Amino acid sequence: MALEIVRLPVLRDNYVFVLADRDGGQAAVVDPAVAAPVIDWLEAAGCELTVVLQTHHHSDHIGGTPELLQRWPRAEVWAAASDRERIPFQTRSLADGDRLELLGRPVEVLLVPGHTRAHLAYVLPASGDAGPELFCGDTLFAGGCGRLFEGTPAQLFSSLERLAALPGDTRVWCAHEYTEANLRFAASVDPANNDLQQRITAVAALRAAGTATVPSRIDLERATNPFLRCRTPALQRAMGQQDPVAVLAELRRRKDGF
Ligand code: ZN
Ligand code: FE
Repeated sequence: MALEIVRLPVLRDNYVFVLADRDGGQAAVVDPAVAAPVIDWLEAAGCELTVVLQTHHHSDHIGGTPELLQRWPRAEVWAAASDRERIPFQTRSLADGDRLELLGRPVEVLLVPGHTRAHLAYVLPASGDAGPELFCGDTLFAGGCGRLFEGTPAQLFSSLERLAALPGDTRVWCAHEYTEANLRFAASVDPANNDLQQRITAVAALRAAGTATVPSRIDLERATNPFLRCRTPALQRAMGQQDPVAVLAELRRRKDGF
């Protein structure tokens, strides 16, 4: 049984992801910023919502959940135990390393603080013909990373290192279409990176055609995302720092003002 993963563009640049088992008539949703498009999709597909996965408490990630729960009151809501106050409707409180099952696929929970102090990522390891999938909210973006609202550079660095260590063919389902702007910044700090230049060309073509750039892949991120390249001499030189955490902090500081 293959899970179908559907990307619903909502608000200005958010993506809501639906994971559907159409044969079984069940589905899950990641970070429903709003409810209406999710309800429309699930009803058209004839699927019942069984699980809402929350990566973090920001309103553009949890905003639609109460309304989804009105429509499917038995749906579980997965969220960080350490964010119980800010995601009060959670029914399954998760911690780093938890392993669960989602629509017949195993899921691993990673606590990846930095953007917020209780940010989660969900990893579906490869199984059978299906490749690995990562739902990482606002921690890792295609070509960039989330702003440091609540964590330290050291926390964000180790969070990003854990995600970068996933298998290269892991698809990266990040929560915003920020890729083009992220790559403009990347080129400004890593201009001699050929993989990055190729990616910029490819992404420009996708965007010109109105196509999403998400999902990305971990191997592409490792090769082109400056926030995953804090140990490379080119970025150490460009940031004037040796320590990779200091490189990350300087990259983040410059990106905030870019
Ligand atoms: Zn956020
Ligand atoms: Fe967000």
